[in-house]
Order: sequence, then C-alpha cells, then structure tokens
Amino acid sequence: MNEKGKAEAERRAKLLKMRAERLPDIKKQFEENQKRNFNANFGPGGKDEKLVAKKKAAKPAAKKAAKPAKQQKAAKEAKGSDVKLLVNTRKGEMVHHQRMLSQDVNAQATQHIIGIPVNKSRYNGFKGVQLTQTQIRTARPDKDAVRIIPIGGLGEFGIGKNMTVIEYQGEMVLIDMGTLFANADYPGVNYMVPDSKWLDDNRDKVKAILFTHAHLDHIGACRHLLPFYGPTVPVYGTAFTIGMIKKQMSELSEVPDMNYQIVNPLEHKEIKLSQHLSAEFIHTLHSIPGNTSIVIRTPNGPILLSGDWRFETNPMDTPADYDRLREIADKEGFSLMLNESTNIDVPGTHPHSEYDVGDNIGKVMDNYATGRIIISCFSSQVKRIECVLREAAERGRKVAFAGFSMINNVEVALRAKSIKVPKDVIMKMEDIVKLPDDKVTIVCTGSQGEMNAVLNRMVTGAHRHIKVKATDTIVFCSSPIPGNEPKIMGTVDGLLREGAQVIQHNKTHLTNIGPLHLSGHAYYEDHVKFVTDLHPMNYMPYHGEFYMLEHNAEMAENVVGIPRDRIIVADDGDIVELLPNKTIRKNGRIPVGNKLYDDADQQVNEAVVKDRIHISREGIFVVILTISKKTGRLIKTPDIVSRAFIYLDNSEELIGKIRHYLRAKTDHTVASDDDVKALKESVKEDVTHILYDATGHTPIVIPVINKV
Ligand SMILES: [Zn+2]
Ligand SMILES: [Zn+2]
Repeated sequence: MNEKGKAEAERRAKLLKMRAERLPDIKKQFEENQKRNFNANFGPGGKDEKLVAKKKAAKPAAKKAAKPAKQQKAAKEAKGSDVKLLVNTRKGEMVHHQRMLSQDVNAQATQHIIGIPVNKSRYNGFKGVQLTQTQIRTARPDKDAVRIIPIGGLGEFGIGKNMTVIEYQGEMVLIDMGTLFANADYPGVNYMVPDSKWLDDNRDKVKAILFTHAHLDHIGACRHLLPFYGPTVPVYGTAFTIGMIKKQMSELSEVPDMNYQIVNPLEHKEIKLSQHLSAEFIHTLHSIPGNTSIVIRTPNGPILLSGDWRFETNPMDTPADYDRLREIADKEGFSLMLNESTNIDVPGTHPHSEYDVGDNIGKVMDNYATGRIIISCFSSQVKRIECVLREAAERGRKVAFAGFSMINNVEVALRAKSIKVPKDVIMKMEDIVKLPDDKVTIVCTGSQGEMNAVLNRMVTGAHRHIKVKATDTIVFCSSPIPGNEPKIMGTVDGLLREGAQVIQHNKTHLTNIGPLHLSGHAYYEDHVKFVTDLHPMNYMPYHGEFYMLEHNAEMAENVVGIPRDRIIVADDGDIVELLPNKTIRKNGRIPVGNKLYDDADQQVNEAVVKDRIHISREGIFVVILTISKKTGRLIKTPDIVSRAFIYLDNSEELIGKIRHYLRAKTDHTVASDDDVKALKESVKEDVTHILYDATGHTPIVIPVINKV
C-alpha cells in the first residue's frame, strides 16, 4: 500500500470509528422519544376523534358556501365582420386553458397571507374549526385585554417579515420590522415588506419600537417603515442592532431624524414605554452580536418574545442570560411566551460550538497552507469572522473582506465593540492580492450561491481583484437556506471547473474537515428545555412557516405539557388577546399584506408580477394595425411582434394565417371610438384562439390600432 492509500485507509477507519461512537447516542435518543407521552394526537386512531367528527359536521355548510357563482357569459357582440376562424379547437378549450393559467398565476403570485387564511389547526383558537367572516365582523374586543398582533413572520412561504404589535388600551409597541426574501416564484421581486393599512391608521398610538437583533428578517424593512414614526417615538435595541439600523437608514436619500436608544441588556433595566407597558431586554445567543429576547410587562402579566436564539455551552460571546429569564419566570411568571420556530424540525441539540468551527477553519489553513483561502459566510456572522481573523493571525496570514454587506457589518461591529481584531491582520482587497498566495485569506459573501455576490463574480472573472484559480481553497462556512441549494451547486460547480478545492459544511466525509457552521437557531431538544424551564402560562409559536408553528405547538403540548387551549397557532393579522384572567383567545383580525420591492428598492405592483409570470409561461404577442380613417381598411400589412412566445422566422404559416384573418376583419369602416374598442376586443379574442389552436398556448395578446 502506498502512502496515499494508507492515509485514505486511516481516514476511513477514523470515520467508521466516529460513526460507531455516535451510534449509541442516536439509539438512546430514539428510545427516549419512544417513551415520550405523545398523547391522543399521535395515539391509535390518529388525531383527536371528537375534533374530526366536529369538522365533518361543519363541512356541508362550508361546501355550499364555496360553490362558485354561476359564470356570467360576456356575450358582448363584437363589432366588425364575423370572420370564420380556421381552427380545429373549440373556443371553450381555450377559455378553459386561460382559466387554469390564471389560477396558476394567481396562486404563484399571492402565496403570502391575505384575507382569512385557511387554518384548521387544533391550536387555531377555535378547536380546529375554520374562522369565518361573520366571526370577525362580530368580534368585540375586551377592553382590558392585552392584544398581540403579528403583522408578519407567521405561516408564510419562508421565514422573514417579522413584526409584532403589542397593544393595551390604545398604547402600542412595535417589535421588529423585517423583510422576507422573495423566491423565484416572484420574478423581478427581491424582497417583501409587511403592509398594513391598519398599522398606518394607528400610527399615533405607537409609543415605542423595539428590535430583538439586526438580521434582515427583523430590521430589513426599517428604511420603508421607520421614517413614518420620526423622533417622537423612541427606537430601542443593543449597540450593534442600532448601529446596523443607522447604517441602513444612512443609505436613504433623506436620512430621517430618529430617537435611537441603545440598551445594554446585561443591566436588566426596566424601560418604561408608556403608561401601562414597559420592556426589559435579555441577552441571548444567536448567530449575530447584540442578540436579545424581550420581556414586555403588561397589566395582564409579562409577555416573553424569544426573538431568535440558540443554546451554546461554550460560547465565544458572553453567555446567554438564562438566569435572568428563569428569575422572571419563577418570580413573576410569564403570562405568554412567543417562541421562534425555525429549527423545530431538527432533532437533538447543537452538537458543537463556534470554537469548533474556528478550529476547523484553522485546520483548513494548515492542510491547504500553500494557496489562497477564500472563506464564504453570512456577513452578519461576526463571531465567525473573528475566528477567521484569529486563525489567520496565528499563521501569519492576512485577511481582506469582499462584498458590500461584509465590509459594512465589520465596520458596525468594530464601532459597537462586538468584534476582537488582532493587530495588522486586516488588509484592503487591492493590497492583499499583491501578497504571495500563502499569505492571502479572503472573507466574502456568496455562500448562498447569489448570482451577484462576490464568490460568483470571482468564478466568472467579473471580480475586480480576484479570479479563482486551481490552487485556491474555497470554504463554505454556512448551510444552504432551503430553496437555495441549486444555486449553491451552480457556484460549487463553477469553482470545481476552475480546479479549486471546495470545502463545504456538512460534507465532512469528503475532506475530513468539519463542522464549519453552527446554526443560529435552537434544535428540538433545546426548545423542550427552554420552554420547560420558563413554564409560561400561555404559548404562541412565531417566526416560522406554518408547519414549523404547528410542530412547535405540538412540542409544547405533547412534551412540555402546556394545555391545548393555552396554545395558539396564529397567522399574520390575527388578534390574540391576553385577558386579565391570564387566558388567551383569538378575537378578530386586522388586514395584512405585502409590499413587493425590486433590487433597486422600487415597489413592484402585484399586477406586474402576475404579468411577468404569465409572460414567462406563455409570452407576449402584439399586432399593430394601421387603418384608414375614411375606409376603416388596412393601409399596410399588419406588424406583428412576438416576444417570449414563438420565433417569428420559423412560424411563417401561422403568421400568414393571422395576417389573412386581420385583412378579412378590417374590411369595413371603424369610425367611432366604441367601434375601435370593439374591434380590439374581437381581434384580441380571435388571435388568441388562432394562437392557442396552433401552439396550445395563450400569450398576452395586445392589439394596437393606429388610424391615419
Ligand atoms: Zn436572526
Ligand atoms: Zn429571524
């Protein structure tokens, strides 16, 4: 056996040993789970039988209401000649195709919550029975209730747009103003911002705005929403969070005058927000500096908003202040806990610490010592960046940052004293590239495969200073955000094609180096411990897609033992009341929605998105008719423009057919505007039919009529 083979055999043996060591733990966890009292929900017979029976009884009425109103036929007589269309398909087929398409387009463009969302969860506040319009109309608020109203962040198709209102007798407090990144279903849309007319109407009632931490899903919408409140409403957050908000606001053409208040959560200060409400920030750990949970004290008891959090046994940051949380839980008792749901589906607990990630980054530097090291991670992972700086300094390497957000965040972290930087390690990008390869470390954005981020530009050669080469080692210190996997694979492919070494988190078996990332969110067992320790009277999952909220609620009932009627799975816009007797109920809704923005921060109308989806599927077809004012006849051959539909040069027969139709159609006078309108309608319908007959598609047909 040669040296290489020997090393490989050793590596495999080591891996097998690691696996064997882990096996008993996995087995043990499985056995413990088996012993758990997964009550009636999971017992024989499935879900609660009474509930199922009730739902069945409620069904016929719902069915009746859901019956579609009879389609009214638009039997408008089209003016102009009735031209016989040379088609083989019935018009009904085309109409059916158009209806299905329109349904698809609507479903794709409005995945966010509008109106009354379907929510028949057994935790929906109505024992699993769907909320109705009548119930909302007749809901009477209890004047002594504290109202908790999620404006965004609950049960959407991604995690983001987090924003919660807490209200008591006309005094309102806002917590977080986040954005949600749009997926590929929303062409040309970059992100979404919570939209609530109700919030606009109640602007004068807002007494304070609080931020848990500086991730974009919590502060991203500041530039759109904060300016409305001005300097009279204090804005509270930790030094790093306020620094990040200020940075974002400084990018506005008109920087608003705001009343920022920096909070040090370790002081346990009670901040009076209004006559009846006060707040206390609690230091917790996550994947960003200055992270907090927030306690709002109300006349009906304290409410805990967990914010985003994870447990860490050996943190780089100051350990989380769980003692303070437990103290409040034991002395005052939480009337309600809102707990984030992101990783509720991940079993177990965090297996390693941020230090392990740091050690493994060092290992990469040792194993690939002769080349450049390019490390890609989230720009808000300030502690991870600190690890890179430390490991690099120990090995005499220099570090440069690439990417707008990366440089921004490091600056804010330095100012907020959230990062320790060793001497003489950081260099500018343009200077570091002049050093020998074995001294170069670059920390950049692009770990999610974003097309415009630094990493991709380094692959394509579009980056000003660096082109990836075969001696480079690229490290992905991140996990894919669900949905981003194909883009990341694209980036990895590009890097491998250049001959570079790629090291990814969660692929330890390929290089024997890892873990290289630590999720910022607690796992299932962490949630069990957290909620058990804080024993809230009422429980409301937030910060998650619907399945996460539901699984979080199931955890609270089945494992922690909170009674079902004290758990609510709410949607954006639901009004949850915490009553003086410390029970909770859902009581009414406020209208909520989304504002869509493109990557130039310009608002995109939903109708535009729908058009884009339609065009992307079926294309666009424009016919331009030039007709004589006098005779109404065609003066010249109709111009035809096809975009994203058929390639005209290959479609002579079809185009000929349409031109023939148009000539026959325009053999009479069109004098009045009404005539022109009717002709347009008729041409649109007929041309669509001809195109559908030939291609099976119904592009957007736009007739243009010029009278000369
Ligand atoms: Zn976060
Ligand atoms: Zn978050």
